[in-house]
Amino acid sequence: MEKQRKECPECGCKEIGQGKLPTVLRPINAVIASSEVRAEVCTNCGYILNMRVLEPEKFKKSLI
Ligand SMILES: [Zn+2]
Repeated sequence: MEKQRKECPECGCKEIGQGKLPTVLRPINAVIASSEVRAEVCTNCGYILNMRVLEPEKFKKSLI
């Protein structure tokens, strides 16, 4: 079962790199908890396909 490769919706490039943002995102009402943010970036045009935190469960306490 081969994992389907992602494709840039802007230029069709299939070479998607993974970036780490030089910051962390903190739940709004948590003092200590924070999570690293990762982004998937098209290596051709620079379009960011998505961003996500690595530990989303930390944000359960900051539901709106
Ligand atoms: Zn692209």
